[in-house]
Amino acid sequence: MADKPVVLIVDDVPANIQSLAEILKDKYRIKVATDGFRSLELAVTEPLPDLILLDIEMPGMNGYEVCEKLKQEPATKNIPVIFVTANDQEEDEEHGLQMGAVDYITKPIRSLIVAARVNTHITLKKQRDLLTAMATHDQLTGLFNRHYLMESSVKCISHAIRHKHDISLMIMDIDHFKIVNDDYGHPFGDRVLQKIANVLISECRREDVVTRFGGEEFVILFDFCNLKDAANKSETIRSMIEALQPEGHLITSSFGVTQLSFKDDSLDSMIKRADQALYMAKESGRNRVVTA
Ligand code: GH3
Ligand code: MG
Ligand code: MG
Ligand code: MG
Repeated sequence: MADKPVVLIVDDVPANIQSLAEILKDKYRIKVATDGFRSLELAVTEPLPDLILLDIEMPGMNGYEVCEKLKQEPATKNIPVIFVTANDQEEDEEHGLQMGAVDYITKPIRSLIVAARVNTHITLKKQRDLLTAMATHDQLTGLFNRHYLMESSVKCISHAIRHKHDISLMIMDIDHFKIVNDDYGHPFGDRVLQKIANVLISECRREDVVTRFGGEEFVILFDFCNLKDAANKSETIRSMIEALQPEGHLITSSFGVTQLSFKDDSLDSMIKRADQALYMAKESGRNRVVTA
């Protein structure tokens, strides 16, 4: 079982951690923290927790404060939190749920209840993660989809304009792909798309948004990258695709590249310029990179 879900147990009393871990250790990977500060560190450290069991009464930062911090941060706000506490007043439970916890378990701990509630919320979390992944990725290649590019570019572009740093965009289109499909079959075409996607991923950094934009068109948003560097990168990708020769067939592609101008306020204007450059690349013979 390589991919057991991960549960982070937070409690200032090691014996409490011990008894929760005992209940959960067969089904889950367990991480533990005995104070609030450490729990916030572990919440963003690999392996990332799929669920947090959080004690309320702790010296230093209490469980409510930890929960509030977790819910403020984009990186941790979707991790379900279950309070596990000796406080059994209704107001405590209300307060806990208002802080964004998904559930509330009172001590003394009953193992079946803990196991069942943890299981329910981990199942829900996994389903949510899967839906999010499906909504933001292309199934064939595993790259981001157009929807994700549109969403993520808004923040990225306004950040770049505010801080005056460069962003570039590359649009790439496979040459004569209709003929490739016609000559060698649609399944071969699909494999080509997957191989090309792997080339794009291998050549990009984590912060670049590598997207399958449409059928045989790909877009990459290069963050912190000027036109010259984006053009060089595109040229490298172009030559790698040319060298691929999947199953012995030469496949080439054409590129249009542009950089954010500070008059731009949207992705659309960059795509439009890059698309014009791509058109020039096609018109002037394909298998080349043209900058706008
Ligand atoms: P150009 O060099 O001008 O770009 O020519 P082209 O043939 O690549 O362009 P066109 O737009 O005429 O054809 C695109 C082709 O891409 C047609 C379509 O069947 C194919 N295609 C789009 N999506 C997929 C896919 O998911 N799988 C496969 N195998 N082919 C696809
Ligand atoms: Mg405590
Ligand atoms: Mg096309
Ligand atoms: Mg094409």
